[in-house]
Amino acid sequence: MSKTLLAIFAHPDDEAFGNGGTLTHYAKQGFKVYLICATRGESGKITDPSIDPNVDKGKLREEELKTACKAMGIEAPLFLGFHDSGRHERTQHGNDKALMNVDELEIERSILAHIAEIKPEIMISFDPHGIYGHVDHIKVHRAATAAFWSADSVMNPAPKRLFYSAMSSERMRVMQAARPNSPLSNLDAGIYGVAEASFAAIMNVSAYKAEKEAAIKAHRSQVGPQSSFANATANTQENDAWLEMFQRETFTLGGLRGSFPAMPVNDLFASHEK
Ligand SMILES: [Zn+2]
Repeated sequence: MSKTLLAIFAHPDDEAFGNGGTLTHYAKQGFKVYLICATRGESGKITDPSIDPNVDKGKLREEELKTACKAMGIEAPLFLGFHDSGRHERTQHGNDKALMNVDELEIERSILAHIAEIKPEIMISFDPHGIYGHVDHIKVHRAATAAFWSADSVMNPAPKRLFYSAMSSERMRVMQAARPNSPLSNLDAGIYGVAEASFAAIMNVSAYKAEKEAAIKAHRSQVGPQSSFANATANTQENDAWLEMFQRETFTLGGLRGSFPAMPVNDLFASHEK
């Protein structure tokens, strides 16, 4: 039976920046790689002026995510159908389907339904601070963590490991300095990032620069010229922060069934037997 990885994120593009190389790596090994996206990113800001501002954003971003998944060689995305809660002036306070207003148990159950089908051995989601604190990231973090622990109810044996996509405080400071207007700005890097010693897995993804870059660029509406993520390319000479994104992806450990080799591993599926 082929090995199976399930990543769970909130919006189209969440998968690409911190995990694109890792997802590509396992797809290339012949593993089954699935991505659950809780929303279609309906409240995202269109940052490419060549896109009609009146476009159906959810539909557009669904298509962008499908393209990104193809670029990484993973299965087509699975959507939970909740709505993007948005940020700032776009916050969806009155929208019952916005993730921020949905009961966490409901999100957990909808994730469990997919876990029952997919039967993942390894899961990936956001860390407790959701990289930069987006309310949807934190809701998905909680629901995915809860689903990891309740997965015994829908599969046996249940998933072995839950990893959190995480950034080091040091790297966050470098990225903040390089991009003063990014979503990382004004965050306490000591809180939102982790110490290097906290990483349970460090993936060398330098072999997958092309695929990761293609996945990022597939999110055309989000990485347009008006985005703080514009020009996020593998060949950029702009600064080390962005180059590192194409070299390694880092994870903390959020849940474990069974044993774990000495941290950090260089393979999310690593076992003691070599
Ligand atoms: Zn997001």
